[in-house]
Amino acid sequence: MSIQQNLEHILSRIRAAELRAGRPAGSVRLVAVSKTFPAEDVKACHDAGQRIFGENKVQEGLGKIPSLPPDTEWHLIGPLQRNKVRKALEYFTLIHAVDSLRLARFMDTVAQETGKRPRILLEVNVGNEDSKFGFFPETLEKEWPELSSLNHLEIAGLMCIPPPVENPEEARPYFRRLRELKEVLSGRGGATLTELSMGMSHDFETAIEEGATLVRVGTAIFGGRSYAPAS
Ligand SMILES: *Cc1c(COP(=O)(O)O)cnc(C)c1O
Repeated sequence: MSIQQNLEHILSRIRAAELRAGRPAGSVRLVAVSKTFPAEDVKACHDAGQRIFGENKVQEGLGKIPSLPPDTEWHLIGPLQRNKVRKALEYFTLIHAVDSLRLARFMDTVAQETGKRPRILLEVNVGNEDSKFGFFPETLEKEWPELSSLNHLEIAGLMCIPPPVENPEEARPYFRRLRELKEVLSGRGGATLTELSMGMSHDFETAIEEGATLVRVGTAIFGGRSYAPAS
């Protein structure tokens, strides 16, 4: 299957999941995750109509960005180090994985200096896994007042990577947890959270049924990755 065929297939599955969930067509946006794949593959996907691409490393993204037309939107989906914040804010329109108050404060300072108000998502460790990045849900609730008062950041929503499961159905409670957390935090004021970035190749339909507005799909579009991505 070509990248174009894969893309068409994924888009039709997204559309079907929207319908099944009683959600308006177009309420879910696809982030095509191009990490480890060359700019030529991204171009093929762009030619097929896709405009949003996700990279999980700033440096790797910067290598591809100049090769794509300016109407391409780049999202950073991987962990962000402080020394990459300036570049990230310059080249990526949405940062999906802001994972600590400390990083958010630092980004707020940089944003103030550069006169920007970047859109970001907060990553939540929905499985409460020790090994994972992201805010523990309880920590996020506790730190929300300060996070939502960082005026130079637009906190647009939440993101998660649930614990690995065999069956997409097992990921459902984690997706639901993220949606509930978004509702709780939005109810407290400070920032209106509209985005839920959740769901990957093997479970994006379940995520859509639970309210995803952004799904991050790599393998099902570009094929298997030949080396394990740093995540
Ligand atoms: C690699 C990656 C994806 C895409 O995963 P696939 O299983 O290839 O669809 C999604 N989100 C993040 C954060 C990733 O690092």
